[in-house]
Amino acid sequence: MLRFVVILIISVFLITILRSVWALISRGLADLFGPAQQHPPVPMARELKRDPVCGTYIAAAASVRKIVKGETLYFCSPNCRDKYPGA
Ligand SMILES: [Zn+2]
Repeated sequence: MLRFVVILIISVFLITILRSVWALISRGLADLFGPAQQHPPVPMARELKRDPVCGTYIAAAASVRKIVKGETLYFCSPNCRDKYPGA
């Protein structure tokens, strides 16, 4: 009976250690891979595009877009978009 209790205590102890080790490992992995997975959309959102009309640099996400001959153009405002020659 005593042996059973000792085995039980050791098992619980080992499981506790394994769980905390696993928590540390998964947190470490999240730190390693988390930012890497979150990074790609951030530069995309902050990507600067040059307005071909006035030469201003604007964030792609905040720009006014227009597709001319299959090419996406980025403008700082609808005014510049309308000034752009060609469609
Ligand atoms: Zn502009």
